[in-house]
Amino acid sequence: AFEQLRQAQKMEALGQLAGGIAHDFNNLLTIINGYSTLLLRSLDRESPQHQEAEQILKAGDRAADLTRQLLTFSRRQILAPRMLNLNDQIRGIEKMLHRVVGEHIYLETSLAEDIDLIKIDPGQVEQIVMNLVVNAGDAMKDGGMMSIATTNAEIDQSFASTHPGSVMGGYVMLAVTDNGTGMTEEVKSRLFEPFFTTKEMGRGTGLGLATVYGIVKQNGGYIDVASELEKGTTFRIYLPRLKQQNTPVKLVPEVPAEGSH
Ligand code: ADP
Repeated sequence: AFEQLRQAQKMEALGQLAGGIAHDFNNLLTIINGYSTLLLRSLDRESPQHQEAEQILKAGDRAADLTRQLLTFSRRQILAPRMLNLNDQIRGIEKMLHRVVGEHIYLETSLAEDIDLIKIDPGQVEQIVMNLVVNAGDAMKDGGMMSIATTNAEIDQSFASTHPGSVMGGYVMLAVTDNGTGMTEEVKSRLFEPFFTTKEMGRGTGLGLATVYGIVKQNGGYIDVASELEKGTTFRIYLPRLKQQNTPVKLVPEVPAEGSH
């Protein structure tokens, strides 16, 4: 399961990377091909320069074909955000999570009963939880305690003003806590960089948290990290809750009309 996850992370990031590069190249090629077309038109059809410009345009067209293929590849993962209950999502993968952390770690889940709904692709939720849990497990090589907790949470003005990047509002919060190694300030500051890893070659890709960051940002959320060396780490993921949900339906008792018996 570990290897599969690593591989999936790698592919995801590679796909994004390829897509990003292809997109930029495509923009540049539009310019190159546009100007070669103009040049071609202004040149005498019989001149050798016309033939040369034709070669440029031909190569440019081939390059545009290639970038189009790359773009299609990187967009292969179609997202389907839907209204969902975070707790249900966690319960759905709980068995797998226990397998992933192994028996030397005690994993406890504490899911708030009245959790609000969120709108997100269910696969993305699994990716967030899995990546955080794998990392927490890696930080507790000799075993320990891990907890996964959910709750409704508000980001208020005082929180927002002390947490750059956070936005006031109502959220659903996922917290993954471990009592493992914790992190140095240096690691903490580079955590979300793609390919940043402190793990040995072949163990870490450095893409887990970059992926989590991308997903959370894409969904209008916020990540808070609290970590102390040799004590442990808590990742808190805030995802915006759906507004105007759970509007209580008032059951108006039927009042028999006057005089109707
Ligand atoms: P990877 O797990 O492949 O190294 P990540 O992006 O998931 O990549 O994590 C980057 C780095 O952040 C890790 O190598 C590790 O140093 C640090 N890290 C992440 N989560 C934790 C944690 N729960 N405890 C300690 N360090 C962590």
